[in-house]
Amino acid sequence: MKMSEQGFTTKIVHSDRRLNLEYGAVHAPIYNSVPYGFNDVQGLIDVFQGQPGHAYARQSTPTIDALQHKICQMDNGYASLVFASGMAAIVTTFLTLLKAGDHLICSQFLFGNTNSVMGTLQSYGIDVTLVDATDIDAIKAAKQENTQMVFVETIANPVTQISALQEIGEFCENEGLVYVIDNTLTSSYLFDATKVKVSLIVTSLSKYVAGHGNALGGSVTDSGLFDWKNYANIFAGYRKGDSKMWGINQIKKKGLRDMGGCMSSQIAHLVSVGSETMELRMQRQCDNALALAEFLEQHPKVAKVYYPGLTSHPQHLTAKKLFKKFGAILSFDLVEGYDCCEILNKLTVVINATHLGDNRTLALPVAPTIYGEMGLEARQKMGISETMVRCSVGIENEADLLADFAQALA
Ligand SMILES: *Cc1c(COP(=O)(O)O)cnc(C)c1O
Repeated sequence: MKMSEQGFTTKIVHSDRRLNLEYGAVHAPIYNSVPYGFNDVQGLIDVFQGQPGHAYARQSTPTIDALQHKICQMDNGYASLVFASGMAAIVTTFLTLLKAGDHLICSQFLFGNTNSVMGTLQSYGIDVTLVDATDIDAIKAAKQENTQMVFVETIANPVTQISALQEIGEFCENEGLVYVIDNTLTSSYLFDATKVKVSLIVTSLSKYVAGHGNALGGSVTDSGLFDWKNYANIFAGYRKGDSKMWGINQIKKKGLRDMGGCMSSQIAHLVSVGSETMELRMQRQCDNALALAEFLEQHPKVAKVYYPGLTSHPQHLTAKKLFKKFGAILSFDLVEGYDCCEILNKLTVVINATHLGDNRTLALPVAPTIYGEMGLEARQKMGISETMVRCSVGIENEADLLADFAQALA
């Protein structure tokens, strides 16, 4: 059987040992060394000239390589890079592929910190238009002469809007635009972004990929589908060799080498071990989330539940078509007169905490926390009510979760 035909988890758990590790190790060892030495100096020269190998840990280590290899298989990609955090991966992608005078079309339903980055890009002279990415016509209408890139999330936080992923892929292909998808909330297990002609997949590894909440990380995967030969922003020095690697090479040189947002080998090991169980965890988390969404939807004190698995969700059919399951993030509004903080304080299994994709169920009041800085008007534009609660559903036993919410809402 060809490796590419194997199942998601089979590929991941056998990924490291297929790298022919020393002593038959089945896990890639942690190489803490920052410099890499050579008996013949030609070896060092070769690495500097672009041959495979390691010279200095800001660009790569064998442990980082092993994780990148694993992520690339998960994402069905051509090449992957890992970063110190999801934000490092995202911001590096923008800063290395866009320049002043370019235009970026971006979903208006965004992770709060990515939303904040848009203001930074604008201050550097990169023009940004925020649009309703569930609507392909809004994306098309935003196109300008200088548009280079479209950036969307799969399922958006906290209202769970789903971008018109397939239609945007067709549009970007026709227009020659770089199509970047933040796949964090779905992960490559729920959603194979290469099916919708994505150019680059960015993922926060801190969430479902690691799962255990003990490591920060991010990744960028090039699908191999974008033609970098036609992309004006690739510097002359990187226009050589396999053109499918031009984009990711520029992100590596300008981003990892020059900007330095690299992951350490210690952390790569933690992410790698966590990633082995992603499919198992996500199946359980998604099943728990659906059960909780259905429970909350029929509860008399709950006014509205936002979850793609409910038939009441505006993009339910899109989610059903594109994703293996419906994700494990859900939000809800209480009936007027009930205080969401009071209810959150009564939860005993669920933890009042930010973060998502953890093995434990976490909940928070959205408006005064993760979407506090952006202000009321921006929240309203994103469909975020002032009393909304967001839950990141974990792997606990379903009955315990439902019982916890039942007693808190009683
Ligand atoms: C958490 C998150 C990020 C940022 O990732 P970090 O690893 O926390 O830097 C980016 N996008 C989405 C959708 C996220 O949920």
